[in-house]
Amino acid sequence: MSFFDKLSSSLSKSAYNIGKKSSEMIEINKLNLSIGKQEREMEELYLELGYRVYLHFKKFHSITREDIDRYINEINRLAENIDTLEKLSLSIKGVKHCKGCKVEFEEDVNYCPYCGDSVRN
Ligand SMILES: [Zn+2]
Repeated sequence: MSFFDKLSSSLSKSAYNIGKKSSEMIEINKLNLSIGKQEREMEELYLELGYRVYLHFKKFHSITREDIDRYINEINRLAENIDTLEKLSLSIKGVKHCKGCKVEFEEDVNYCPYCGDSVRN
């Protein structure tokens, strides 16, 4: 392989890697947007749950378990979605993550040096 062939081959490999990196970045950005949106939905549900509980107590001096369960189930569903999206984002980035303090680790660690939680990818 001539010098120019090698150069052109290594340039096209770099271009391929840059292309791959930017498509990964787009995927990660999409995931982060989706995570942010679902986190805001969760916050709204927390507020609504609190408000509903308040209104029920004010009016009826009680609240049914079913009323609360509807909100709990929806919040749990969003939390599971967010968890799945975060796992996907981490696997694209190829890093591990501490669930406790949200620090990301490039190297292979099993426990977070900051809080001692188990680290996963
Ligand atoms: Zn930690």
